[in-house]
Amino acid sequence: MQLVQSIGSDIGKQRSTTLARSVLVGLIGGNIQQSRTPRMHEVEGARLGLRYSYQLVDVAVPRDTPLDIGQIVSAAALFGFAGLNVTYPYKQAIMPHLDVIDEGAARVGAVNTVVFSQGKTFGYNTDLWGFAQGFRLEMAQAPVNRVLQLGAGGAGSAVANALVECGVHELVIADLDTARARNLAERLTSGSARVSALPLDQIAAIKFDGIVNTTPMGMDKNPGMPIDPAMLNPSVWVADIVYFPLETALLASARARGCRTLSGAAMAVFQAVKAFELFTGIAADADAMRATFNAFETTKPWTETAD
Ligand code: NAD
Repeated sequence: MQLVQSIGSDIGKQRSTTLARSVLVGLIGGNIQQSRTPRMHEVEGARLGLRYSYQLVDVAVPRDTPLDIGQIVSAAALFGFAGLNVTYPYKQAIMPHLDVIDEGAARVGAVNTVVFSQGKTFGYNTDLWGFAQGFRLEMAQAPVNRVLQLGAGGAGSAVANALVECGVHELVIADLDTARARNLAERLTSGSARVSALPLDQIAAIKFDGIVNTTPMGMDKNPGMPIDPAMLNPSVWVADIVYFPLETALLASARARGCRTLSGAAMAVFQAVKAFELFTGIAADADAMRATFNAFETTKPWTETAD
């Protein structure tokens, strides 16, 4: 039977008493070759004097035998991995294979970070913490009475939970798939915020303090904007979690209209910061990891990738 623990519980603290100088971790998912996460981890590990190795297990690479996520978890434990990051298509599928699920990950319904410790597997969702931390630091004092979230997919579930944690009073969720928006809203109603789903064709009639895009719209392979730019004026803040590219059409349009904005870099960097801390028990330097993330802007062409 699975236990549910809180992300700030004893797990990370117990690990910090037995710091390894050598840390082996990895990312399991499909089409992850261009992910910036391995480099953020390895540079931070080296900066802290660790022999830190971050391996990719890319299930999109053709193989004779399909990979089984349960077997990957067992093999990683056997080979001495300290932890794994998990991305599409395994964030939900991995959950039954873990011993303990953090309560935040249980709320989101997805795990993106697994820690191997004391012979057990612990699952976390650092996307939730990553968006919340980025929002708290980079959007401090932003009004949060009524916020519109576009998209109710995997990342949308983490972001909606984060927005509620950040004190949003009324969260309105809209998705092309209205049933998905309704389902996410229903899962969040037990919290302090009022959460509802609204058809996309009704959002323009409502005034929002902030708008958050968690749809893939705006990615280099999915260009365009998920809202009518007429909804944007300088009193509305705008956050986008897409980061290929960082400057989406939505953010460019919002900035041009004088809106305060938050790019997808914040969530991408802070999810890695928390995962690093869970893997090692050592506090990571978010600014240093952000600098590694930003270095890709000048050295790599835009490429779509998993997170
Ligand atoms: P997903 O496919 O699980 O969910 C996307 C949702 O958006 C779906 O429910 C879909 O119906 C909805 N949608 C698509 N187009 C829409 C539109 N025009 N209007 C309203 N709803 C629309 O995808 P996901 O895993 O949630 O990822 C979404 C995006 O978030 C991707 O671009 C991904 O790269 C990005 N992401 C960023 C980070 C980060 O750290 N910055 C982390 C995770 C995901």
